[in-house]
Amino acid sequence: MSSFDRRTINRRDFLKLAAAGGTSGALALQGCAGMRDTAMAPGPRVVVVGGGFGGATAAKYIRMFDPGVQVTLIEANATHTTCPGSNWVLGGLRSLESITFDYGVLRKRHGVEVVTGRASAIDPDQRKVMLAGGGSVAYDRLIVSPGIDFDYAAIEGHGPGDVERAPHAWQAGPQTAILQRQLEEMPDGGVFVIVPPPNPFRCPPGPYERVSMVAHYFKQRKPRAKIVILDPKGGFSKQGLFIQGWQDLYGYGTDRSLIEYVPGPDGTVGRVDMATLTAYAGDFENAVRADVLNLIPAQRAGAIAVESGLADDSGWCPVDHRTWESTLVPGVHVIGDSAIQAPLPKSGYAANSEAKVCAAAVVDLLRGRAAGEPSWVNTCYSLVGPDYGISVAAVYDLTAEGKVASVEGAGGLTPADADRKKEALYARSWYVNVTDDSFG
Ligand code: FAD
Repeated sequence: MSSFDRRTINRRDFLKLAAAGGTSGALALQGCAGMRDTAMAPGPRVVVVGGGFGGATAAKYIRMFDPGVQVTLIEANATHTTCPGSNWVLGGLRSLESITFDYGVLRKRHGVEVVTGRASAIDPDQRKVMLAGGGSVAYDRLIVSPGIDFDYAAIEGHGPGDVERAPHAWQAGPQTAILQRQLEEMPDGGVFVIVPPPNPFRCPPGPYERVSMVAHYFKQRKPRAKIVILDPKGGFSKQGLFIQGWQDLYGYGTDRSLIEYVPGPDGTVGRVDMATLTAYAGDFENAVRADVLNLIPAQRAGAIAVESGLADDSGWCPVDHRTWESTLVPGVHVIGDSAIQAPLPKSGYAANSEAKVCAAAVVDLLRGRAAGEPSWVNTCYSLVGPDYGISVAAVYDLTAEGKVASVEGAGGLTPADADRKKEALYARSWYVNVTDDSFG
């Protein structure tokens, strides 16, 4: 019997466990202080799959909204290294350790039961999540926030086996470390080629912040190196502000520019030769040999969401945005990058905001109440240099037709003449606040 099967134990066993300090028992009692007998029974059970920005926030906020609800978080890894901040690691501004969080605070302060292991399947009829290591966890409502997975079909010659030689570093941690090492080992005068993914993808400004951070690193350590962006798209998020920053800091637009930007279709890579690290773009006419190749493949919802029938033909998961309950599998809510959430972006801040709306709705539904009126917020900061920040912000609400819409006039890009040093400070303080809100 796995430790999670104790959810099926009888009431006497439950009380014994609680008296012995068993986590969920103690919490259920704490939530029912002053109440007797029937109120001593364990509360409704929510399981959360994935402990990144969406999942960790949802688990924490359900416990804050209603301590009578038992929450189990299933996360594949013992720690989570955040993608936000991982470009700053490549720029030499932070260490990987400083952007890595464990689940101690969620456990101890918020009473979330954390299971370190991979969820291998969901059984929506039996309301159970199966674990790859054996055993299962039962739920009354399930929240799934597994982030993204990759689709390797679009670029010939490149597959999942190539991510060590040509890392994506689009899931932070070991992949970031590989890319960092390759950049450090690259000779001065070498070429760094980055291939951003097609839309939709996690963190629309992310590839261009990466270019900026690598440019900063090269400017300090390898001034003769070059960056080539081979982009399948015709434009990108915060493009005007990035270009202005590249002009201000990296000679963009001059013959001394560190950065060359090739938009689609000329920049669209159709094939790579992994032996020589050559990318063939623009109808295979344009061959660019890389010393370091950062190929970020096309994306879709996390594997567990796709394999559990939560995704539609687009590869992403349709939801009712008031509750984030799947429109395909009842009782299962999908948040974060895996969900179809446009015009909300696939960002950590949006996932955090979606998680709070979902947590409130799940508590309401479990307690027999109608879910409330939601709204969301997102700000995407990027560092172009250590003291040079740019951002875009938006507020969203739900239309009468149940669609997410941005609220006109609430947000926008920072003006071209904004104080970039202050924006860089805001970017760093945003990171402290959002990670504390999600993992602290
Ligand atoms: P994640 O945070 O990726 O969490 C998913 C979790 O699920 C992971 O911990 C994973 O281990 C776990 N998991 C997956 N499958 C299973 C399973 N079967 N069983 C158990 N666990 C599982 N966003 C911002 O707001 N601001 C930024 O500045 C920013 N910068 C970024 C920079 C880069 C380079 C990148 C790549 C992204 C950036 N983002 C940023 C985007 C942000 O990282 C994502 O949008 C955010 O992480 C999405 O949250 P999530 O919960 O959907 O997924």
